[in-house]
Amino acid sequence: STPAVMLSAMAAAARGGVLFKSSAAMDALARVNTVAFDKTGTLTQAKMTVARVLAAEHMEGGEAGALALAAGLESHSEHPIAQAVVTLARERGVAPVPVRNAQAVPGMGIEATLNGGELGSVQRAWAGNLRLMTREGASLSPAQDAALRELNAEGSSSVIVGVGARVLAVMGVSDTLRPGIAEAISSLRAAGVAHQVMLTGDKMEVAQAVAAQIGLTEYRAELLPEDKLRIMGELPGPLAMVGDGVNDAPALARADLGIAVASGTDVAIESADVVLMKNDLGKLAGAVKLAKDARRTVF
Ligand code: ADP
Ligand code: MG
Repeated sequence: STPAVMLSAMAAAARGGVLFKSSAAMDALARVNTVAFDKTGTLTQAKMTVARVLAAEHMEGGEAGALALAAGLESHSEHPIAQAVVTLARERGVAPVPVRNAQAVPGMGIEATLNGGELGSVQRAWAGNLRLMTREGASLSPAQDAALRELNAEGSSSVIVGVGARVLAVMGVSDTLRPGIAEAISSLRAAGVAHQVMLTGDKMEVAQAVAAQIGLTEYRAELLPEDKLRIMGELPGPLAMVGDGVNDAPALARADLGIAVASGTDVAIESADVVLMKNDLGKLAGAVKLAKDARRTVF
């Protein structure tokens, strides 16, 4: 049975908004050496806004046309980037272009089929990152490339929209850091967690900018979901993973300790051993201290 000191530590943590699903989870937190964080929705709020829409010169309907196509695609995606695009279209009164067979491409974006012009030809439309663009056989013009670099250096993510091998628009999407996240990281370090690492599917430049803003020195970028799992195995354990999304569920389950942000998806919360009920990563350091004290008393 669970020692009373463990139960009371779990209760104290719960009062602070850190819900342990088991005493084994609390014991694991006391021993954690590395905490890995997902970026979008975990370190950031995933309340994204489209900062910029840059339609290609040959884009029919210019900026509004590009937004209509992007919104048509993104209305089928649950990614926070997708919500930002759909919201902007609604705000501007732009009707999404209907698409069929929409399918998420994990770690890259979304693709669908588009009914073509008068001949009824079927084309493939897509929205996502550079990796998806390359997969579709498309490439950026020098002006688009320069615009993306500028956005990424500011910490904004980019979305590229295209049909077939043609890039029709690039967009900049900016996110907001969770309040107090820099303090949360430094307090975790002070609580004796040796390594803190950000794992993200986003571009290296974006990861770098975000890491610098919150005081993280370790980060890995441009990761596919399977890359995240592989890298987790290479980090010094025991390892805790903090995440929020459907795409984080495998990592949360794989880690020695999975920690979900409550604002995240149900599947992330179900896959985790610990839930941050108030979405406050600043509460983690206190939970580590409670867990260490309880462990010292028990053993
Ligand atoms: P992360 O949460 O770290 O951004 P994801 O695996 O969810 O990781 O996504 C990786 C990258 O794939 C994103 O940074 C984005 O560039 C791209 N992406 C994924 N889904 C979409 C989407 N629906 N629209 C645009 N880009 C997307
Ligand atoms: Mg996420």
